[in-house]
Amino acid sequence: MSKELKRAIEDAYRVVIFTGAGISTESGIPDFRSPGGLWTKMAPIDFQDFLRSPEIRAEAWRRKFEIDKTIVSAEPNKGHMAIAKLIDEGKASHVITQNIDNLHQNSGIPAEKVIELHGNGTYAKCLDCGERHELSWVREIYDASGAAPDCRSCGGIVKSATISFGQAMPEEQMNRAHEATLGCDLFIAIGSSLQVYPAAGFPVLAKRNGAMLAILNREPTELDQIADLVIHDEIGPTLAPIAMLN
Ligand code: NAD
Ligand code: ZN
Repeated sequence: MSKELKRAIEDAYRVVIFTGAGISTESGIPDFRSPGGLWTKMAPIDFQDFLRSPEIRAEAWRRKFEIDKTIVSAEPNKGHMAIAKLIDEGKASHVITQNIDNLHQNSGIPAEKVIELHGNGTYAKCLDCGERHELSWVREIYDASGAAPDCRSCGGIVKSATISFGQAMPEEQMNRAHEATLGCDLFIAIGSSLQVYPAAGFPVLAKRNGAMLAILNREPTELDQIADLVIHDEIGPTLAPIAMLN
C-alpha cells in the first residue's frame, strides 16, 4: 500500500498534506478520540463558558498546564520529518494541520508553509487586543494566585492561542487552506478521524476539485468511502520509507 502512496506522490504535480492528532502520537502526545485519549479523560471547555467565568478560565489553564506536560517535551517524529522532506523538496506545497503542538514548525518546515486551523498551543493571546503573551508569564500568575491572568496591555481576557469549540475559525488560515487545497492534485490526510468540521471539509473540497484523495490512518475515517487510496497503518513506519528516511 505504501508503494501505491509513493507512486501517487511521484506522479503528483503538487501535494498538500493535512494532519490531525495522529501524526503526533508517536511523539508521545495522545490524540483525542483513541482509547486513553485526552477526551476520554477531560471534556473540552467551550469558548462561551471560557468567556463567561473567571473560575472556568482558571480551570482551563489548569487543564492546559496538565496537557502541556506531554507537549512541551515532545519532538518531531519520523512522520513529521517525512512531511518536512516533501516540503523541502518542493513536492508538497503546504501542510494544513489541526494540531496545536508546533511540531511541524519544529521539524524545520518554514512557518509560511504550515497552516494551523486550530491555532497554536505554545503561546497565549489577548482576545481583545491580540497581544501575544508567553505561557511562562501566565504560569507565574496562575501558580501564585490560582487565577487566570488578564492582558497586561488592555486588561482583556488572555487565552491559549488555540481555537476552542464554539470559537470562530481563524479567517486568514481558513482562506490559505482553501487556496492551497484548490492548488493541489494530490491531497493526503494523515492521522485524523476526519470528524471535526470545518477542518474535515478540506479533503472533501480537494476531491470535488478533482484532486486525488489519499488517507493514512490506523483506523477507518469518516471519509474513507470517497478516498482514492486508503491506508490503515501506522504513520511513521509508512511515511519514513516513502521519504527514504530509513
Ligand atoms: P482524532 O483524535 O480525532 O484522530 C486521530 C486519528 O489518528 C485517530 O483516528 C487515530 O486512530 C489515528 N492515529 C493515532 N495515532 C496514529 C498512528 N501512530 N498511526 C496511524 N494513525 C494514528 O484527531 P483529529 O481528527 O486531529 O481531531 C482532534 C482535534 O484535537 C483536532 O482538532 C486538534 O486540534 C486537537 N488535538 C491536537 C493535538 C496536537 O496538537 N498534537 C492532540 C490532540 C488533539
Ligand atoms: Zn489585550
